[in-house]
Amino acid sequence: MKITEYTLHRLHLPLREPIGDSQVRFVDHWMTVVELHSEAGHSGVGFAIQQGQPTASLVDLKLQFEYSVWPSLVGGSPLGLSQRITRPRGGNVGGGYLKPPIETALWDLIGKQQELPLYQLLGGENPRVAAYASTLDFHLDDAEFRTKLERFCSQGFSAVKTKIGHPDLAWDLRRLSLAKEVMGGDVRLMIDANEAWSVKETLIRLNAYRDAGHEIFWIEDPITREDYEGYARLCAELQFTRVNTGEYLGYSGKRRLLEHNAVDVLNIHDSISVSRAAAWLAADYGVPVSLGNTILELGVHLAASLPECLALEFSDLIWNQLAVDPVRFEDGFAIAPDRPGHGIELDRDKVAFYSKP
Ligand SMILES: [Mg+2]
Repeated sequence: MKITEYTLHRLHLPLREPIGDSQVRFVDHWMTVVELHSEAGHSGVGFAIQQGQPTASLVDLKLQFEYSVWPSLVGGSPLGLSQRITRPRGGNVGGGYLKPPIETALWDLIGKQQELPLYQLLGGENPRVAAYASTLDFHLDDAEFRTKLERFCSQGFSAVKTKIGHPDLAWDLRRLSLAKEVMGGDVRLMIDANEAWSVKETLIRLNAYRDAGHEIFWIEDPITREDYEGYARLCAELQFTRVNTGEYLGYSGKRRLLEHNAVDVLNIHDSISVSRAAAWLAADYGVPVSLGNTILELGVHLAASLPECLALEFSDLIWNQLAVDPVRFEDGFAIAPDRPGHGIELDRDKVAFYSKP
């Protein structure tokens, strides 16, 4: 089965409400959708998101794609391309065609060819994956935050991650109380500071939350991403919670975290192949992993294939409107679609509605 054609779409998705954290605020997503078509008549679909600024025009996106990606794909076999390993050296570092959206589209094609759901293709047996609700709430007021929490609660979530890291400690404490009030006292509470603090400030804050009676399952990205010594110190000193980091690092950075005993839960937020390599390495260190938000929740397949994935993030974003039948979340679990490939069929009317030239 060879790849013969491609289609690109450029979409602009206005968000229901602003999302963000202690560092950033976004009101929309610019999405690029890549469809790879095979001679057998199958199509594989992959997605990329850009936040904070519009993507290039569709004409320019196609120009870039035809110049730097398409020559590596056309006439190739999806399975062979998905397995190819290149040596990242010199000017090749960060290059190549195997970007996350292309890889997703290739795996989707392989799944359709093999008539297997992606999670099974990756070795998974159980389509159900523990998930947590993620509020991305830093720029919402208390009433909006409460409404969002109530929505997640009614969807059956019993684990939630909120944004903290406000300059005013009292703000953080109030939001943690609010989360417990809405979700119930036995909610599993995770927090994300998005690099807001120093090591010392992290210790002060986490102790203050604890003194206020808040049990925190994990603290995510409290300090800057490459402070491996700092993360090692936090892992050693924060005996009463877990340190989750790695979201902002590539494979080499994740490896350094593990080498430095600088992570309790490794966030393997990347393409399928890089995430699997990082998860394999983490397993060798006896460190569990978690998965951050993935476009259209496709990370559910990867998570279902990994034996030590604690949880999958779910932020209920507008991108799920693009699916005829989006990934389902029930009682705090994500369910990987049982259709061939990743199982996300595009709603063509919605794609047309959000398309931009
Ligand atoms: Mg995060």
